Amino acid sequence: MTIHRFAHADAASLQEVVAALDETCLPLGGGTDLVAMMKAGLMAPERLVNLKTLPDHHGVRPGDGGWRIGALMTLADLAADPAVAEAPALASLVEAVLDSASPQLRTMATLGGNLLQRPRCWYFRNPEVPCWRKGGRRCFAFRGENKYHTLLGGGPCYAPHPSDPAVALLALGAAVRLSGPAGDRTLALDDFYVTPTRDAQRADGYHPVTVLAPDEVLVEVLIPGSAANARSAYVKLMERGVWDFALVSVAVNLALSDAGQVAAARVALGGVAAVPWRATEAEEALLGGSLTPEAIDRAAEAVVAGTRPLEHNAYKVDQLKAALRQALRRWTAD
Ligand SMILES: Cc1cc2nc3c(=O)[nH]c(=O)nc-3n(C[C@H](O)[C@H](O)[C@H](O)COP(=O)(O)OP(=O)(O)OC[C@H]3O[C@@H](n4cnc5c(N)ncnc54)[C@H](O)[C@@H]3O)c2cc1C
Repeated sequence: MTIHRFAHADAASLQEVVAALDETCLPLGGGTDLVAMMKAGLMAPERLVNLKTLPDHHGVRPGDGGWRIGALMTLADLAADPAVAEAPALASLVEAVLDSASPQLRTMATLGGNLLQRPRCWYFRNPEVPCWRKGGRRCFAFRGENKYHTLLGGGPCYAPHPSDPAVALLALGAAVRLSGPAGDRTLALDDFYVTPTRDAQRADGYHPVTVLAPDEVLVEVLIPGSAANARSAYVKLMERGVWDFALVSVAVNLALSDAGQVAAARVALGGVAAVPWRATEAEEALLGGSLTPEAIDRAAEAVVAGTRPLEHNAYKVDQLKAALRQALRRWTAD
């Protein structure tokens, strides 16, 4: 067995963190994914800088009529925070957080680390398999065991993004604030996540699914204010009842007019693409109409537009339709 030695430092300030970070020095949140990746021999940083000792970004603040959530908040604290737990518009986020992992993991895991966790694909997680995402030549899931893999976005990597909160946040129109040596930048989640491409590869060989630079830290998640009658829901379908990653998930964020018509809609999908996925066809199908059974059927057909199942995962197409129906039916009379 090879012993990999690394240095560990508790961060005192954000400036210190961004000055330290590069391809050999990684930020440590709760460590629930990073340490597992290191133990498996999948990552070998020379240094870790512990973000949890930073004085800020551990709580929720109001901002621009919405919410600013510190990226260092643990998932457990986030779900329990009254500003989040009691906001009807954020119901989907609370559901997604409480559907993530286990109570023990949520006590350690930070929101930032959750949004940046690596995929759960069994080829990716096997250190003996040189899959494309790790710098190898091909995706073994494409013609292999692909029961849990993607339906949307095509290759070259078919591993689904594992985060539940990311899907809820995408439907809520959230943005992320990143801090780096040149200052801060704020990006909509739609622009933060990018499907992996051949021309984006990090020095360690990995293909990223975000535009986060090696010397940047995710410091905050910004959720815009919503209409008074906004409502949101998160439906996750799993193989086991608890403590499992999504086979598919659907997050819906709707604003309804007084007459009950859909005035604004955002729909996001999990478990089906290498990044949290916007279902724009389903949004268009919902806009302007009421949530009648027919409209829900049309949205359910639209949510699977463009899906291209692999050999073993066609069941996810029906699951997506069912999950969207389940989410929308929460707001119908019957
Ligand atoms: C058994 C099990 C079941 C799970 N089930 C689910 C599930 O159902 N749904 C779900 O969503 N998740 C699930 N997870 C994943 C879990 O939620 C993540 O491991 C966790 O959220 C990662 O957070 P962390 O703070 O521990 O990240 P870390 O492990 O500390 O970091 C993960 C990555 O993000 C980087 N990073 C961390 N914080 C920052 C930051 N602020 N800025 C820049 N980079 C940063 C690290 O360098 C590392 O590369 C599960 C995990 C396990 C082990």
